[in-house]
Amino acid sequence: MQDYLNCRLCPRQCGADRAASRGFCGLGSDVRIARAGLHMWEEPPISGERGAGTVFFSGCTLKCVFCQNYEISQLKKGRNITESELADEFLRLRDIGAENIELVSPTPFLPSIINVLDKIKPRLGIPIVMNTGGYERVETIKRLKGYVDVYLPDIKYFDPVRSKKYSGAEDYFEIALEAVKEMVSQTGKPLIDRRGVMQRGVIIRHLVMPGGRADSAKIIGELGKCFSADDILISLMSQYTPMYRAGEFREINRRVSTFEYNFVLDRCLEAGFGGFMQERESATDSYLPEFEGNYL
Ligand code: SF4
Repeated sequence: MQDYLNCRLCPRQCGADRAASRGFCGLGSDVRIARAGLHMWEEPPISGERGAGTVFFSGCTLKCVFCQNYEISQLKKGRNITESELADEFLRLRDIGAENIELVSPTPFLPSIINVLDKIKPRLGIPIVMNTGGYERVETIKRLKGYVDVYLPDIKYFDPVRSKKYSGAEDYFEIALEAVKEMVSQTGKPLIDRRGVMQRGVIIRHLVMPGGRADSAKIIGELGKCFSADDILISLMSQYTPMYRAGEFREINRRVSTFEYNFVLDRCLEAGFGGFMQERESATDSYLPEFEGNYL
């Protein structure tokens, strides 16, 4: 596929020929997934009563040193599948009652996913959710218009020093903010149906990090300048756990304190944003799913 021969799908714009070599993400041209199943641990309007139909794609365009899914994002655990097998997975999730199809970190495989949705989106009849680290090209997000109903992007950092140090993306905030503006322009304001399931809209996830409350406050401040309070929902996450390479960075090698989390929560409330808080008791790695496949 042309997109994979000169890959510019994400802001890295490597230009890699993924059939023959590898770009920054290290992914080839075959779609690779690590799990497709019902997932109960997303925000209430994403999981609904029956669970999100979550498909975890292998690989990532960021390199977060604290990634709790590092086995799939960095070690690329998973199995290669064809587009027709991916269509079967989406339909199977719908058949077992999934409230939606939630695509987790799908960017390197979006052209294949669009091919699949061209064939089966009307038959699916449930929303398509894109769960992303937020580091997205506006041009790529524009191609998803009419395919994705709900966007679930992270905004992780404001400070370029922090985003470079912990995720390898110095331009993270400016890129993520422009991507989120495009997402909001596509979906409009959040729409949640009578069963409490989100049908349309954008939920911005923000993970409060140890030592990062001032940076978090800047993010909330910028969102307040760009969006009306009812344009977006904010999911404020407390689950930060020092995993993967976090031990190499003393300042983030601990959990977030209640004071830090509440400080950021107060900034969200002051800005008038609605959304979701994460119970601090759920801030463990116990709800990480088992991933399938082998390492690349
Ligand atoms: S998806 Fe991968 S290969 Fe394509 S531009 Fe991004 S990092 Fe490079």
